Amino acid sequence: MAKPLVVISQAQGKNPAKQQLEAELVAALSSDANVEVSLVPNLYDLAADHSAMQFLRSIPGDVIVLSWLYPRGARWILDRQNVRGHEGVSLLESKTDDEESDDESPARKNGNGRHGSDDAKKNGNGNGHGEVPDSRPLPNRKIYCLDLRDHSEVKVYLDEIRRIAVGQVFNLPGQLSSTLTSIAEPKQDEQVENLPHELAKYLRPLDLLAEQKSATSLDDDDDVPANGEIVRRRWYPVIDYSRCTNCMECIDFCLFGVYGLDPLGSILVEQQDSCKKGCPACSRVCPANAIVFPGHKTPAIAGADGEVGDVKIDLSKLFGAPSAVELAARERDVELVRDGRDTVGLTIGIPKRLKDKPKKPRDELDDLIDSLDALEL
Ligand code: SF4
Ligand code: SF4
Repeated sequence: MAKPLVVISQAQGKNPAKQQLEAELVAALSSDANVEVSLVPNLYDLAADHSAMQFLRSIPGDVIVLSWLYPRGARWILDRQNVRGHEGVSLLESKTDDEESDDESPARKNGNGRHGSDDAKKNGNGNGHGEVPDSRPLPNRKIYCLDLRDHSEVKVYLDEIRRIAVGQVFNLPGQLSSTLTSIAEPKQDEQVENLPHELAKYLRPLDLLAEQKSATSLDDDDDVPANGEIVRRRWYPVIDYSRCTNCMECIDFCLFGVYGLDPLGSILVEQQDSCKKGCPACSRVCPANAIVFPGHKTPAIAGADGEVGDVKIDLSKLFGAPSAVELAARERDVELVRDGRDTVGLTIGIPKRLKDKPKKPRDELDDLIDSLDALEL
């Protein structure tokens, strides 16, 4: 049985506590015979042609990814880059979902279930892509995504990694097909040994850490020198295809050419770097909460699990604050002005559901809202 590959995706910036946790994990896992360990720059910042992404695409077996990202964000970043597999279930308790956020709508605060995409997967086409057609084959392996913000103790991660690695060998009923496949296919260990030099460096994380320590300091916006390849911080939407319904509201809303369609008519983020840094506008108009900006400070926008829901009442409206769609339109206008273009407000690309939605029967909440209106609060 091939060893799983543990991928440690480094944090942006130079936070000493984060660097310490990464270094301790590397040190402990480098001497663990049950796993291979690798160190790569922050996954979100990696362009498709970066050698670290090529390295990840070259790994055929199970992968355990530890990153400073919500697992949902990490999984779909990798999926888009063709690092694909079935979703592995982590038993680690999440702590980051409890973080405060300062600009969430009530819809975004609903629920924290780790596996909120189960329904989409049940209804989906078997490749984890929910309702969106995807012609790419799904490799018969698992990808586990663990959030390094959840725990500060190395031991918690080591225990979970060992549970997953040992489970591969002993949990035969659930793993039988993948075990049988591994007999027919080249073993991960053999493929790893045959990696070209420029990719094999990622399997020498202790050397990489030593190189980084001795490298001259870069600008704060340019991270991790990976053997000469500078990694710049990026900002772009990541689509969670287990939730996406291919409704096209994002492509209608974005006026900056970020979204596109593949030959099957499936939505995709076509021009990642055309997205406006810091702007999360389209995530607010997506009716399925399927658009993730992993670097956003609001957990639900950054990929924390939450219920996909129709907002029965938007409390912010009661108190005069803008709704999520109004906020998105304002954020879009700001970017249009920065580009020297005219603002469009709510006149273009506003979600169809708000215009076409059939009216629901009145209920007690409607009566409550009417009473408040009558009081002219
Ligand atoms: S708005 Fe959301 S659900 Fe609709 S196509 Fe875009 S990502 Fe998918
Ligand atoms: S955040 Fe703004 S610029 Fe970026 S994809 Fe969404 S609407 Fe387009």
